Amino acid sequence: MTTNLLDVAGVAVSPDHYIGGQRVASAQTFELHSPIDQRLLGHIGEGSAEHVDAAIRAAQAAFPAWSRMTAAERKPYLDRFAQEIGKRADDFCRLESNDAGVLLSRMRHGVVPRAMLNITWFAQHALELQDRPIDTEQAHHIVRHDPAGVVAIITPWNAPLMLSTWKLGPALAAGNTCVLKPPEWAPLTCSLLADAAHAAGLPPGVFNVVQGSGAGTGAKLVSDARIARVSFTGSVPTAKWIAQAAGANLVPCSLELGGKSPFIVLEDADIDNAAATGALMYRNAGQVCLAGTRFLVHEKIADRFVAAMRDYVERLVIGDPREESTEVGPIIHSRQVERVLGFVERAVAGGAQVLWGGERHPFGAQYVRPTMLTNLKQSDEIVQNEVFGPVLTLQTFASDDEAIELANGTDYGLGGVCYGETAHATEVAQSVRTGFIWVNSFGIRDLAAPFGGIKRSGVGREGGDWSFEFFCDIKDVVVPKKPFRASFSQR
Ligand code: NAD
Repeated sequence: MTTNLLDVAGVAVSPDHYIGGQRVASAQTFELHSPIDQRLLGHIGEGSAEHVDAAIRAAQAAFPAWSRMTAAERKPYLDRFAQEIGKRADDFCRLESNDAGVLLSRMRHGVVPRAMLNITWFAQHALELQDRPIDTEQAHHIVRHDPAGVVAIITPWNAPLMLSTWKLGPALAAGNTCVLKPPEWAPLTCSLLADAAHAAGLPPGVFNVVQGSGAGTGAKLVSDARIARVSFTGSVPTAKWIAQAAGANLVPCSLELGGKSPFIVLEDADIDNAAATGALMYRNAGQVCLAGTRFLVHEKIADRFVAAMRDYVERLVIGDPREESTEVGPIIHSRQVERVLGFVERAVAGGAQVLWGGERHPFGAQYVRPTMLTNLKQSDEIVQNEVFGPVLTLQTFASDDEAIELANGTDYGLGGVCYGETAHATEVAQSVRTGFIWVNSFGIRDLAAPFGGIKRSGVGREGGDWSFEFFCDIKDVVVPKKPFRASFSQR
């Protein structure tokens, strides 16, 4: 592949699109800056209508051969794809650390292994999905999972490699061909994914990447009637726009959106354990959709919990995400910093009390101190809206019923955390209206389990069979067991 390459932290990466197995440059580009120190990382191609069209045509052309293969025939391609990701592990780590500000240590130990698993796990799982039979007295039903066609994948900047592979894995394993539109604030690892796919020998057009902005490139992609599915992870306002655009063509969408998840600490909780997990909510500078950001703490233990969590928070190492010891890095963009601080300022003006943080951190222009606000009403803006930064809120409750009412009192319903004596916490957790909730833990995930939100946090589920149900057309081939003779009285 000939391409003009950027040098980002010693990694050679293409700023161009990847269409039909080839790099394609754009006349129009946009600047990419690092959130760590705002230095210019390079100029990235802005996908035009022609690029989107070319990518969809390439994906359409590749579809018949790729979709006709059995899952067993596709599996070696996908296993090689994962191996090629593994070979570039260090480059993926350095790129996402530099363009998204994700901790290098987290990339190495969490994200890259998970990206590989996202590809291999679904390739394996697809083998088990094929041709599920249903036998009745009347007929033999062959329930097929047929690939839907050309799939559009749109991902956000907070976890570009993890979320892109989480969608690509099942989409490709099911036999679809894909066009990925990476996040414009952190596009580099998605570009390197194209290199990995190319080296793995994925047939041209099976996987395409078109770089660009959401309102420009992304909007053109999701509005195109040739797209069979739109898989989106991002914010609620964008999801509403995409749902309308795709809805105009009756194209199914999977929407994984924001959260305002409760972190409940019951009276019988292990306070120290809960506080240690609480400090984890500042990971990725709080730019984590599934973080528990609304602390709901029993009034009798609130003072002890606040003291314990303050202790953990004060010890957090804030700094350069490329350093092994760093625990909290930068916020993605200066606009996002202003947004986060705006939430804090308005909350304080409305009477909120700052327990810790509440201001910029001196490490750099895009750093905000881990913050906790209290003295809040349920209707307050900061209780109701996703901040997507290192800003948490704390409210107290006097009974389980009140905790559940507060937990369920927002328009979001993504996740949750509940600390307490296990049976008690499990019971409370079951009444919290979210797509998932962790009891006395946080972040335990399994690729076979469903993932997604309710209310404004999303539409649909990803993971395991749910990903395949979305990316496939389910077809029932009905073969009667006895000879069938047409008759008007027969139903
Ligand atoms: P965003 O909605 O601004 O952008 C997400 C993606 O959509 C980007 O690639 C963007 O370019 C694209 N986009 C924007 N407008 C578009 C349009 N009109 N048509 C097509 N594409 C368009 O979100 P963000 O700020 O990048 O990400 C943060 C949000 O993502 C937060 O709300 C966070 O909670 C959410 N998120 C959710 C999950 C989850 O699994 N539920 C995971 C990570 C992030």
